[in-house]
Amino acid sequence: STNELPFDNSFVTSLSEKTFFQRITPTPLQSTHLVSFNPRAAALIDLSPAEQYRAEFIKAFSGQSPLTRMDPIAMVYSGHQFGSYNPQLGDGRGLLLGEVLNKQQERWDIHLKGAGLTPFSRDGDGRAVLRSTIREYLGSEALYHLGIPSTRGLCIFGSDEAVYREKVESGAALIRLAQSHIRFGTFEYFYYTQQHDALKKLADYVIQRHFSDAIEQESPYVYFFHQVIRKTAELVAKWQAFGFAHGVMNTDNMSIIGETFDFGPFGFLDNFDASYICNHSDYQGRYAFNQQPSIAYWNCSCLGQTLLPFAQAEDIKSTLSKFPDYFFQHYDALIKKKLGFFEKKTTDESLITDLFQLLQDQQPDYTLFFRYLSDYQPYQEPKKLKTLFHDTKQFDEWITRYATRLLTEKTSEQKRVSIMKSVNPKYILRNYLAQIAIEKAEQEDFGEIDKLLKILSHPFDEQPEFEAYAKQAPEWSKAIQISCSS
Ligand code: AMP
Ligand code: MG
Ligand code: MG
Repeated sequence: STNELPFDNSFVTSLSEKTFFQRITPTPLQSTHLVSFNPRAAALIDLSPAEQYRAEFIKAFSGQSPLTRMDPIAMVYSGHQFGSYNPQLGDGRGLLLGEVLNKQQERWDIHLKGAGLTPFSRDGDGRAVLRSTIREYLGSEALYHLGIPSTRGLCIFGSDEAVYREKVESGAALIRLAQSHIRFGTFEYFYYTQQHDALKKLADYVIQRHFSDAIEQESPYVYFFHQVIRKTAELVAKWQAFGFAHGVMNTDNMSIIGETFDFGPFGFLDNFDASYICNHSDYQGRYAFNQQPSIAYWNCSCLGQTLLPFAQAEDIKSTLSKFPDYFFQHYDALIKKKLGFFEKKTTDESLITDLFQLLQDQQPDYTLFFRYLSDYQPYQEPKKLKTLFHDTKQFDEWITRYATRLLTEKTSEQKRVSIMKSVNPKYILRNYLAQIAIEKAEQEDFGEIDKLLKILSHPFDEQPEFEAYAKQAPEWSKAIQISCSS
């Protein structure tokens, strides 16, 4: 139960106050109430679903009365935002309440986002709004259940407090669970302020906590960097394969352990468009869908820069240069799995290139395309697939080549279909689905959030009672505008 949670706050005990963090008492929201509770995330810290009905839980996690074993802090960091270095960011509205060790001895950070002002709030109000907490909560869980590393959402608190964004909204808070809250930007802060002793302490802490096999290596910092490169490349490969756009890949939003981190104006592709920009205030398209791999690479180079005091520049450079290979290998393997290609064929590359040209030209629904493809049998009339295309000639030409290719597979059809369906989801968090849940929640009907949470926790399964949630986005969804304001 909440009262027995075994806190073990390694960040505050290993690193020094003021340099790395500031102790802050959360400012609770006015008349806080629970909006949603996620039993799957609760299980990560051994909390039972019954906890959501207990006053101790609500009080402790909403920040009204933190447990004595919590030790809430705002973490220090900086980072590159839209390509420019911002020397001082830090937790301006979120607090790390503490770390819990679960029964498997896994360490989970408990972070309250929307906890009030901190010394890092700059001109912000320290708050989050209901809309953005719902988006992060559902988005992070949707990714996790797709098999994409992500922070998790434990619960949402709503309130009667007015919070001013483009319009008046209601204040809310999210409890985020993550195995780390250390960002690329945490390293950048100590590098650019020339606090190299603190930087080394941070690196050693991160290695000890997250990359302990680096310790026995000849060059632990290079080895650690190498692991970050690999994890980050594989993460972004998954985003690209599943059609996820993060939206704000600033270096302060890059988790050191390669998880999807900090959900702002993210979006899943509905109709395929490689140049999709989910953030309406990203005028240059810096974080467009097809820019994500190169931005991640650039972000990794920012991290590499900070390790120069402890490693040879050549080693950092050669490690960094492995990023494209890690990315392409992982991406290629995923796309081949999505297509049901298990044998290696020389024609595969051109089939894949031509498929993405077809998708770009005709912009069918990306998720439905692969889901329907999983049910396609060679030389059958591809009725369902065809409904997604307006120029059926270009599609027919491709599907005939695909059919010929599938016939060269030795894997049984049944097995192929089941593997394809394990990477071609039926349910994703479409923007319009999140929007409906948000609008209902703003009218105090929270049922839709829980319903989506449930559906999205089994994205690859047939869920006949929720068939409506697997449909293409309606026309009105194109008008939804998502910006950084959250
Ligand atoms: P983000 O765009 O969410 O990655 O946030 C960038 C920086 O702005 C971080 O330092 C945040 O803590 C801070 N920030 C974002 N929103 C607010 C807010 N409403 N109040 C105070 N600080 C904020
Ligand atoms: Mg952020
Ligand atoms: Mg954010």
